[in-house]
Amino acid sequence: MSETLDCKTAENDITAYFNDTLRDEDTLKLFDHLNECPSCMEEFTIQHLVSMSLNDADDDDMDTKNEIALRRKEILRRLSVKDVAQRFYLGIVFFGVTIFFMAALTVAFY
Ligand SMILES: [Zn+2]
Repeated sequence: MSETLDCKTAENDITAYFNDTLRDEDTLKLFDHLNECPSCMEEFTIQHLVSMSLNDADDDDMDTKNEIALRRKEILRRLSVKDVAQRFYLGIVFFGVTIFFMAALTVAFY
């Protein structure tokens, strides 16, 4: 099942994106939608230009496509770091549980 946004949701997400309140997962979904929806892409481009002119940006030579590619990479990296951290945490928990049972068994067989 492909999880594509409808344009109404995308519109809200675009606003949230430029307010810096859109979650990473939703941002990726929004980018996917932008790739296949020219009218939302246009909306995104307009808001991007507006936000750039508001933050008298140093990066005003950066176009919207670059912004999206860059952000996507950044988010994917952040998500994969989170993933590794989660696996590491699970590893620690598993290790702890194993030690506990070994200790419990040792005590039980005395
Ligand atoms: Zn759309």
